[in-house]
Amino acid sequence: MVGSKVSRKAFLQLLMASVAAGVVAPASVLAAPSPKQIVVIGAGLAGLVAAYELKKQGHQVTVLEARDRVGGRVYTLREGFANGQYAEAGGEYIDSFNVHRQMHRYVQTFGLRLAPVHSEPTDGIYFVRQKRCDFSDAALAASFGQGVVDEVDRFWITLELLARDAFRKPDWLTAAAPWDQQSVAQWMDTLALEPLARELTEQYLRGEMDEPDQLSMMFLMEQAALYDKVPDQRLEMYRIQGGNGQLPAAIARTLGDAIWLSCPVKAIEQSDQGVQVIHDRGSVRADYVVIATPLPPLRQVRFSPELPEVVGDAIAHLNYGSHVKVMIQFDERIWRTRYQSTGLTITDLPIGFATDATARQSGQSGILTAYISGQYGEALLPLSNEARIQNVLDQYEAIYPGCRSHVKAAQTAVWPQERYAGGSYSNYGPGQFSRYWPALRQPHGRLFFAGEHTDNFVGYMEGAVRSGQRVAQQIQLQEAVAA
Ligand SMILES: Cc1cc2nc3c(=O)[nH]c(=O)nc-3n(C[C@H](O)[C@H](O)[C@H](O)COP(=O)(O)OP(=O)(O)OC[C@H]3O[C@@H](n4cnc5c(N)ncnc54)[C@H](O)[C@@H]3O)c2cc1C
Repeated sequence: MVGSKVSRKAFLQLLMASVAAGVVAPASVLAAPSPKQIVVIGAGLAGLVAAYELKKQGHQVTVLEARDRVGGRVYTLREGFANGQYAEAGGEYIDSFNVHRQMHRYVQTFGLRLAPVHSEPTDGIYFVRQKRCDFSDAALAASFGQGVVDEVDRFWITLELLARDAFRKPDWLTAAAPWDQQSVAQWMDTLALEPLARELTEQYLRGEMDEPDQLSMMFLMEQAALYDKVPDQRLEMYRIQGGNGQLPAAIARTLGDAIWLSCPVKAIEQSDQGVQVIHDRGSVRADYVVIATPLPPLRQVRFSPELPEVVGDAIAHLNYGSHVKVMIQFDERIWRTRYQSTGLTITDLPIGFATDATARQSGQSGILTAYISGQYGEALLPLSNEARIQNVLDQYEAIYPGCRSHVKAAQTAVWPQERYAGGSYSNYGPGQFSRYWPALRQPHGRLFFAGEHTDNFVGYMEGAVRSGQRVAQQIQLQEAVAA
């Protein structure tokens, strides 16, 4: 009897390590829990999903949220725009079902619907070197030569092959670790791409992540491996009809008054008996704590005892993107009516990328969202909101002349300056992925980290919800081991 108990315990411990490494534990091996008191810090998608899944397992959950709203970096802006139109200030696109599986699952569970973003795959424009052409390889080749298109392809094919080779191995974290010492910029130097092809790939990486010299090559390979063999038409496919903010709101409704808003956490004190979580309005005792905040706000939180050095380093140094969104509402969708573009605009100008946030919303007016990132996002930080808007309008005027006279309203989302975000989303820098990422997925006593930065889908809503599911499983397993 003792032998079988010991081996079950060893099995559960092995399973815990596997869950940290990415395996999903089968529900059948998880013991029915004795209800525990669990505090979740942060009511973004990661914290809400963790709380929802833990509550389903029978635990008592309290969610402490610093802001006066739920959703975190998923935030649909409605106020300030006319005609009932809205735009996504943060997380916007959901990829196809075979990629963002868990997002699709929760959207369906909560009775929400997805609206396709694009009418056709090639429905936008390139505006490069002051020239406008269709958003297609053929049009790019006609304007700048086939060599540029071939060179961009060479970049992607080489990356895909490298990533496939390293990340198919069961021990990929060790196998790919040497790549972590190199920045993406250093790797690009070895490719010696044709200059415009390099500029275009750099602009893409900047828009999706960060400046290539700020990115770990291992991190880029990991992201590329996730999307191996996923055709472009399956990416950035959907938004939630009526606004992405409806998903966190729906999950929050199932948690009711277990969510305490305007409760920033200041200190976390762990002992053998439990954890004391101290927030602005008092303190709560917990058996386990899920920390589902981005890492920068944790620089203001006191941990007792101190966290392991590697986790402290991650909190202090993990690289975050500096994306800024500028959302301008025009009384006429001039990009459509005069320029035969759906608004999807890929450019070498600092705005980088723009899209019609209202593509699936009715009305003559429309909101164009510019997505400014990397060094260009940082350059906007010291400016006033008005100056940021004018800066973007100056660039739009070059692409869609005459648009300025149609401006109706404008708003900005400056995530790097948001106290409870401290950046747009995580983008592991050189030397960071192999060191921080596995450490953030391990339990630290009674503390568990969740959030987009702790999942394979780093930087995505999918990563946030998957991380919430992971910590719910880890806590369940830890309980089973202790039983
Ligand atoms: C500009 C931008 C564009 C994006 N585009 C996309 C996209 O197109 N597709 C996609 O899938 N993803 C996108 N994302 C990423 C996506 O939004 C995030 O990955 C996801 O929302 C992160 O969820 P989270 O729960 O990990 O963190 P968050 O949503 O940040 O939630 C953390 C919560 O913790 C709270 N908090 C912080 N500190 C404390 C404290 N001390 N005490 C209590 N609470 C605290 C915060 O207020 C917040 O509510 C984008 C993000 C940004 C910023």
